[in-house]
Amino acid sequence: MKKKQKTSLIRASFLSPDAALSIFYLLYFLYSINDLIIKSENLEKILWNLIKSELFYVAGKCRNCSKCCRKMTLIHNNINIDTSEKFRKISTTDPYYLNFKPAYLDKDNNNPVISYFACQLLNRDGMCSDYRCRPDFCHDFPVSSFIQNDHITEFCGYKIKRTKINPCFSNKSLKLRVSNINKHL
Ligand code: SF4
Ligand code: SF4
Repeated sequence: MKKKQKTSLIRASFLSPDAALSIFYLLYFLYSINDLIIKSENLEKILWNLIKSELFYVAGKCRNCSKCCRKMTLIHNNINIDTSEKFRKISTTDPYYLNFKPAYLDKDNNNPVISYFACQLLNRDGMCSDYRCRPDFCHDFPVSSFIQNDHITEFCGYKIKRTKINPCFSNKSLKLRVSNINKHL
């Protein structure tokens, strides 16, 4: 969603590899305790995002393809805006959302499912016409996509990369999460 972004490297962690490894094992300990005893989904999500920042980072540069503005998912307060009803509610609360035009999957339904949104603030040159006031989720893209969904769309000029640390760990759910990201590197 962010247009004409100049940043070429977005590091999720600025720590040295040794410090990052120590932080990783601390977070891993907490993640394992939560997994075995506390079993809090919120805590798991927080810890996973922190662990992810030690293992991966986002690098690359925007190709100005505009695809992230023409075919986007809207997430508000961790809720995927994927139905007409959810979109009606959010755009009543915040009319800025009316700039995003939903593409419906099943228009005959009373509460049709939204396949994706196309932003109407994209101008004919493929540039954001409201760049300075664009929403935070546009400003933070594609790091927000990585944090929210563990992936970045294939067509994007930004890619997920591994940091230099390569820790050993055995927790099954964490291994699965890490390997799901590794598959798309
Ligand atoms: S406001 Fe629209 S055109 Fe601007 S960056 Fe966001 S999605 Fe793209
Ligand atoms: S999809 Fe990626 S490369 Fe294309 S405009 Fe968006 S941020 Fe830039």
